[in-house]
Amino acid sequence: MSKTYNTYEERRQSKLRTSLLLFLLLNIAFSLFYVVSAINNSRQPSAAAIIVAELSLTVLVISLFRMRSYAVSLNYLAIIIGISWAWHILFRFNQLATPDKTFLLYNLMTVFFISAITLADNLLAFCLHSLPSAVTVVVLDEFSHIVMLLFTIVLPLISFSLHHLMQNRSEAFTIDLVKRLSEEREKFSDLSMIDPLTGLYNRRGLHNRLEGLLGAGGGPGCHYLLLLDIDHFKAYNDNYGHSMGDKALTAVAIRDAVRSRDVVVRYGGEEFLVLLIDVDETEALTLAENVRQAVLDLKIPHLYNQEASTTVTLSVGIASLTGANIDASLTTADQALYQAKHQGRNAVKFVGLPVGEKSPSSAER
Ligand code: GH3
Ligand code: MG
Ligand code: MG
Repeated sequence: MSKTYNTYEERRQSKLRTSLLLFLLLNIAFSLFYVVSAINNSRQPSAAAIIVAELSLTVLVISLFRMRSYAVSLNYLAIIIGISWAWHILFRFNQLATPDKTFLLYNLMTVFFISAITLADNLLAFCLHSLPSAVTVVVLDEFSHIVMLLFTIVLPLISFSLHHLMQNRSEAFTIDLVKRLSEEREKFSDLSMIDPLTGLYNRRGLHNRLEGLLGAGGGPGCHYLLLLDIDHFKAYNDNYGHSMGDKALTAVAIRDAVRSRDVVVRYGGEEFLVLLIDVDETEALTLAENVRQAVLDLKIPHLYNQEASTTVTLSVGIASLTGANIDASLTTADQALYQAKHQGRNAVKFVGLPVGEKSPSSAER
């Protein structure tokens, strides 16, 4: 099964890691080959090949156990190993009884082969690894096959530059696409927390805000819950029509009656919830009263609400939010709301949370 990457950067790092491991493996293989064949032919192996083998093996072992950023380490390794290969070519060339120009080409091809196989995606690392050997070979060849050597060096460089350019473009496109996708995802996640009719938070939004609030260590009693319900709204719908009902719901501007830090939620059909952040009991009661009065002040005609008024009104139940127990506070606020409804509507009721075995106390304001 293919691995799933959470971010584009994760995928890029994984690609770099594979490049690095392959680069090290090929360098180990070639350097060991040179060392072993030198020993077999009773020649002194080049110190450069031994360095490449030891360095590559060490980095390979470290890389297998440690995950980290590979982009920088790959470039450093490429230049160190590239210079080592140039040194190896110089050493081996000086060991030859007669100067053999095909030997130079063969060695240059080996270095290009390693670069091409493992560093095709990393133009800088490709150049850092290949150029020291390329320059050494041109100099040792005394510029006698300059056209052929330049052709051998420049052609792959041009093709890799073009490849790199195209890849950069497609990577830029992918990065932009991934960025836009994550922005869209955030936007949809935000939208999924908003009630489309009123533009207030829905229950999902409430839970999201609660997680942030209670997770941030909101102390018990610092916050209060208001549960608000429009009075006789079924009668409003039945008599004025559903679309007028929607308009009234939208007009009930609870948001404007509380502070910007408070969380206003459309909790159900014609039920709202307000989370009053960092308030004491007196402030909570004042804010609840503000909301009740603000709705009354809208003077939306509601002739079928005569028990309370001839305009749209709402009833409010208050409870303190104790610790992280939102459910207990909701139950208490619901009890307070029930009492407000029972005692004539268009009212604010506060029910203290039961402490231990104490029965709930209630106070009408
Ligand atoms: P009470 O004073 O006891 O709250 O009486 P009520 O009539 O408001 O309560 P009830 O729960 O019986 O009725 C609620 C009504 O709210 C029923 C439904 O038609 C109306 N309602 C719920 N959601 C919407 C909505 O999105 N749009 C409209 N127009 N009406 C809605
Ligand atoms: Mg209701
Ligand atoms: Mg109602």
